[in-house]
Amino acid sequence: MIDQIEITGLRAVTIVGALPHEREVPQPLRIDLVVDVDLRDAGRSDELGDTVHYGLVADRVVAIVEESKDVLLERLVARIADEVLRFDRVDAVEVTLTKLRPPLAVDAQTTAVRIRRARAELEIPTTTTHRAHLALGSNLGDRSAHLRRAIELLGRVPRRSQVYETDPVGGPDGQGPYLNMVVEVETSLDPFALLRRCQRIEAAAMRQRTVRWGARTLDVDIVLFDDVVIDSEELTIPHPRFAERRFVLAPLAEIAPDRCPPGWEDDLPASGVRSIGPLPGA
Ligand code: ATP
Ligand code: CA
Ligand code: CA
Repeated sequence: MIDQIEITGLRAVTIVGALPHEREVPQPLRIDLVVDVDLRDAGRSDELGDTVHYGLVADRVVAIVEESKDVLLERLVARIADEVLRFDRVDAVEVTLTKLRPPLAVDAQTTAVRIRRARAELEIPTTTTHRAHLALGSNLGDRSAHLRRAIELLGRVPRRSQVYETDPVGGPDGQGPYLNMVVEVETSLDPFALLRRCQRIEAAAMRQRTVRWGARTLDVDIVLFDDVVIDSEELTIPHPRFAERRFVLAPLAEIAPDRCPPGWEDDLPASGVRSIGPLPGA
C-alpha cells in the first residue's frame, strides 16, 4: 500500500505552446500532483520533518511554471516532476498539467498531459536513513507493556534483543527489578530529533523525573547512532555509561556484537542480569 499526498487545482499563468499567439500571450494552466511518500513516520511522530511539506512543493511548482517559456506541455510537466522528486522522502510523483483554454479549432474544454515519474528512474538517492541502537528500561507499572508501546512508537525497528531482568544499580533503595532490552531503529531523524522522540515516548508512558536513577515506567536511551560521536550538554553519543552496563551490553551483543567493546563479558560482573527470553506479548 502506497501513501500519497495530493495537491489539486494549483493555478499558474505562463507562456506555453507552439502557436504564434501562445508565444505572446500567457495562458492559464492547472497543475495536479499526486505524491507517493511513506507517511508512517509522520503518522506516529506528528512531526513535519517526517513528511513532505506540501506548501513548499506547491510554491516551487507554481514558480517553475510561471518562469517557464517551454513550448510543449510535455517538457514543462517533466521539469515539474523532476523538481518534486528532489524533495526528501518523495518516492514518485504523478503530475497532470492542463491547458484551461486550449487553442483548438474544435470545441474542447481542456487539454492535458499526465506523467508519472519515480525517484528510482532519476538516480536521486533516497532519504538518508540512519541506524541507531536504543536501550529501553522499565521498572514501574506493567513493564513489558511499556516496552511494547515504546517499540510501537519508535517506528521502524528491524531488530530487537531478548528481554533481561536486572537488579537496579545506583539510585534510591526499594526499587523493583528492571526489564531491559536493546532495539535497532532505522530513522531519518538526526540524533537530536531522535532524542526528542525518545523523550516524548517516555512522557507518553507518564514517566516522572524526581530523583536521579529513580524508578521509572520507561527509560529510552540512545546508545549508538551510526558512527556518530556527540558530546553536548543535552546529548552524548555513544551513551557515556553503556560500556559499563551488562544490562545494555548483553542485549546489544545479540543484535550488534561488533558494536560491543572487546572482552566486555569477562570485564563486567555477571550477577544481577538474567535473560528471560523474548518480550512477552510482542
Ligand atoms: P543514565 O543516562 O545514566 O542511563 P538516566 O537514563 O536515568 O541515566 P535520564 O534522567 O533519563 O537519565 O536522562 C538525563 C538526560 O540525559 C536527558 O535529559 C538527556 O538530555 C541526557 N542524555 C545525554 N545523552 C543521552 C543519550 N545518549 N540518550 C538519552 N539521553 C541522553
Ligand atoms: Ca538510562
Ligand atoms: Ca535516559
